[in-house]
Amino acid sequence: SSKAGHYDAVVIGGGPGGYVHAIKLAQLNYKVACIESRGSLGGTCLNVGCIPSKALLNNTHLYHQIKHDSAQRGIEIGGDVNINVSKLQAAKEKAVVGLTSGIEMLFKKNGVTYLKGKGSFVDDKTLKVEGLDGSDYQVTADNITIATGSEPTPFPGIEIDEERIVSSTGALALKEVPKKMAIIGGGIIGLEMASVWSRLGSEVTILEFSDAIGAGMDAEVAKTTQKLLAKQGLKFKCGTKVTSGVREGDIVKVGLEDVKSGKTSDIEADVLLVAIGRRPYTKGLNHEAVGLEQDDRGRLVIDSQFRTAKPHIRVIGDVTFGAMLAHKAEEEGIAAAEYMKHGHGHVNYGNIPSVMYTHPEVAWVGASEQQLKADGIKYNVGKFPFIANSRAKTNLDTDGFVKFLADSETQRILGVHIIGPNAGEMIAEGVLAIEYGASTEDVARTCHAHPTLAEAFKEAALATFDKPINF
Ligand code: FAD
Repeated sequence: SSKAGHYDAVVIGGGPGGYVHAIKLAQLNYKVACIESRGSLGGTCLNVGCIPSKALLNNTHLYHQIKHDSAQRGIEIGGDVNINVSKLQAAKEKAVVGLTSGIEMLFKKNGVTYLKGKGSFVDDKTLKVEGLDGSDYQVTADNITIATGSEPTPFPGIEIDEERIVSSTGALALKEVPKKMAIIGGGIIGLEMASVWSRLGSEVTILEFSDAIGAGMDAEVAKTTQKLLAKQGLKFKCGTKVTSGVREGDIVKVGLEDVKSGKTSDIEADVLLVAIGRRPYTKGLNHEAVGLEQDDRGRLVIDSQFRTAKPHIRVIGDVTFGAMLAHKAEEEGIAAAEYMKHGHGHVNYGNIPSVMYTHPEVAWVGASEQQLKADGIKYNVGKFPFIANSRAKTNLDTDGFVKFLADSETQRILGVHIIGPNAGEMIAEGVLAIEYGASTEDVARTCHAHPTLAEAFKEAALATFDKPINF
């Protein structure tokens, strides 16, 4: 192949970690190639993750609003409001293709060579590429970065067929609305998929092992989230262990056991979604050949500069330590390139936001109350509810609140937790504030436009050390 040969750097995997890293390296004047086996760039995130899920979430929210929330706004719908699942899926597909082909354009623009195929180690400077077109060749590189991402964690004993028993990938591609859907796992992915299909009429039950949903959320926010989602019709079985999931024709039988009492029961569903988390993906990489270390959870082991035991081989994104989030992988993609070029780079792991794109959205950054308590840190809480925010009231969209956690002595911001409309956009202000070491007084003394939801952010900051004005 004309693409065989030598590169300054080769990146394995074209997800948010790998593609951003490759572009940054090219901008830093490296001759760089990126190997991707999926047939399109963007990785899990753009193909079967962030982007398709947001397409479905946005459009089903719109549908739900038009159908159930129009009359009070003076919008009169003449006939029935219906959903066309195949067109809904086509709109999703259009968003995905537009964005993944956009990355291909960016590769061309920046001079990144795109190697379509599966990459594996031959030795520590040589990679074999099994091209999707049947070609088979080798490339050599001074630097190699592994960005092979993650895959859904399987549930022992439950076999995924992506039709009736699905992972998130199957849940994003259902051709019809299941009458009943059961979801193992009340984390972000489970709850986002629950929202999509429940808005379209599915009777959705979340099966969660622990006592609370929303792994990682501030406990108060998680409780409010569950209450609001339950009001929308989602059913929750917390403290419930799933013991089996078997397809019988077009029905899935799910065996359950109450964690506390040990009482067993079972439920039936048309679709069972297994959403218990993701695990690092290294299948077929042959990294054993170069002796790269993996920890007990399959994560490739690196130092603080993304280097493996072979310092010219680096690892970024879901396949190594840290939160499995696209923006975290992207930050690492930039930082690893800068380390390579300059010997220094920067990712602030204490300041990576999380967002759940349900309605209302849930977003947070920094420490939760339960973490601060566990660490024995003294803090003040400032809360402001959207029911007291003029814009939220005007929009008839008032569920939720903004919550600040600030050091009780200095008012330095330790955590921000938002449940409410546009929380995912609003959290950026919290991330910026924390990045600059701001106190809640800094935020409270910063002018925020009126009338905006962001005024709730400002008032919640104020409430950590003084009285809010509008509540
Ligand atoms: P990936 O995106 O997994 O990319 C790795 C790529 O490497 C893949 O395309 C794979 O084909 C390729 N590859 C693997 N092995 C090889 C090989 N040997 N040769 C060639 N290519 C190879 N994160 C967010 O931040 N926000 C969200 O809203 C969000 N929503 C999500 C929704 C769902 C349903 C899912 C499943 C995930 C979501 N995520 C979200 C997580 C996000 O998708 C991941 O954190 C992100 O994609 C990780 O990027 P990455 O580059 O590390 O790996």
